Amino acid sequence: MGECYFCLSKASHSCRLCGRPVCDTHGGGGVCVACREAICAVCGRELAVSYCSGCGRLGCVDCLVQYDPVRRFCRDCLARGASEFKPEALEPLKKVVRRVFGS
Ligand SMILES: [Zn+2]
Ligand SMILES: [Zn+2]
Ligand SMILES: [Zn+2]
Ligand SMILES: [Zn+2]
Repeated sequence: MGECYFCLSKASHSCRLCGRPVCDTHGGGGVCVACREAICAVCGRELAVSYCSGCGRLGCVDCLVQYDPVRRFCRDCLARGASEFKPEALEPLKKVVRRVFGS
């Protein structure tokens, strides 16, 4: 397995997001300390890409929805404020990203 990317002690597994070898201290829960800082606070599974304009939490492409050109909201905020948003105008951020970058 090799050495932990962070402390160079024996690595026990690799980070499931970045793939770097990590020890239990630096890779607890399957995600390394670097990725944990940048992980989606909504689902806790994917790397975050931006902040929710409502609650300020980090969110990933699956959890944040582009509401208008400058604002993105997480699923929880959308659920809470469903009446003040227009759900039919929403589009998952993933699709927007695909359209813009053509991937
Ligand atoms: Zn380590
Ligand atoms: Zn990582
Ligand atoms: Zn997420
Ligand atoms: Zn939110």
